[in-house]
Amino acid sequence: MLLHECIPPIAALVLKIDFLIVGQGLAGSLLAWHLLEGGKRVLVVDRDEPDTSSKVAAGLVTPLAGSRFNLPVSLDERLDYARGFYWKLEELSGEPLFHHRRIARLFQNPGEKSAWTSRLENEGERYARYHGALEIDQARFRLPYGGFEMREGGWLDVPAFLEFTRQTLLESASYAIGRVNSADVALDEAGIRWKNIKASKIIFCEGWQGNQNRFFDWVPMNPALGDILELDIPELSDESRIISRGGWLIPLGEGRFRTGSNYRHQFESAGPGEAGRNEILKKLEAITPVIPVVVRHRAAVRPIIRRSQVFMGIHPAHPQVAFFNGLGSKGVLNGPWHASRLAAHLLSGKALPPEADLQTNLL
Ligand SMILES: Cc1cc2nc3c(=O)[nH]c(=O)nc-3n(C[C@H](O)[C@H](O)[C@H](O)COP(=O)(O)OP(=O)(O)OC[C@H]3O[C@@H](n4cnc5c(N)ncnc54)[C@H](O)[C@@H]3O)c2cc1C
Repeated sequence: MLLHECIPPIAALVLKIDFLIVGQGLAGSLLAWHLLEGGKRVLVVDRDEPDTSSKVAAGLVTPLAGSRFNLPVSLDERLDYARGFYWKLEELSGEPLFHHRRIARLFQNPGEKSAWTSRLENEGERYARYHGALEIDQARFRLPYGGFEMREGGWLDVPAFLEFTRQTLLESASYAIGRVNSADVALDEAGIRWKNIKASKIIFCEGWQGNQNRFFDWVPMNPALGDILELDIPELSDESRIISRGGWLIPLGEGRFRTGSNYRHQFESAGPGEAGRNEILKKLEAITPVIPVVVRHRAAVRPIIRRSQVFMGIHPAHPQVAFFNGLGSKGVLNGPWHASRLAAHLLSGKALPPEADLQTNLL
């Protein structure tokens, strides 16, 4: 059956639902699963573009990110929740979605080495779950300052997750291709109306252009373009770990790898370019001296809010309108936990985590 044949005939009659979700990226998909689990009727409307942030993302889960190896207070809880969530979907779909992998974390400079040493000396017990000894072939990987093996990491096959979500939504006529223009959304006491859809609430999960919207034009979006390359490196085909040193290298099997990424806050076009490709290849050189063959180059824009803040909740003036955005570069790890909190807020008024609640973070 063709995709458009499965789409509900939204031109014909008024369709009453609980939640209209705008955007089927990671944010909209995660929220849809949680609202469906709460027994609600949803419709997800998406523009179905080829190169969105979610479709291009590497999907990495890196528990200890950055040069200071910060371990956020709720990391255990978020990580366990995310993995449990993805594994549950894996069982439903029968396809591998989350690839649990160790990460060979190679220090970039002496500063990183001493930051890590100090973490272990002062907070060894907290970090115990997340590291082990590193063994690595120094002829194939650059290790001038040493490193460690980071545990509990991996990567989500985000396109496969999105496609499984879409197929599941289609089965209950809960998905449509289309563009929701906020100017066409009418509000009344019962909720919202968009075309022939009536819903109690509309939730905008629009990604990096989330403030090109009449309800949320005040949100401080700070999007960043990022590039990703797919490579053939047969010399490294026996490596199963993710390698990380500034950039990262993810083994996909049979000598194929994915590598990235960069952050460009100033960009003229949202597509891939020569400068991005060169930037990524330079990062790769810091990981391995082996020369790759580039087989694919993609780029997309990450939705980042302020420095990197998940932003969600109900509009301060319009209780029928909500927002879920700013997943940034940790969307795969943090997204499920935030979606569960937002769903509980929408379903039963449970308080949101204050650091993510847009009502407590208004400008
Ligand atoms: C190069 C790169 C690498 C990345 N690597 C990682 C990584 O390793 N790990 C990680 O966790 N994160 C990574 N990310 C970030 C991750 O992609 C994001 O956190 C996440 O995917 C954002 O999801 P989203 O749903 O908010 O936005 P999007 O993926 O942009 O989804 C928004 C969706 O809404 C649709 N839409 C927008 N407006 C409308 C409208 N008005 N009507 C209908 N549909 C609409 C769009 O078409 C799109 O499908 C990476 C991103 C990039 C660009």
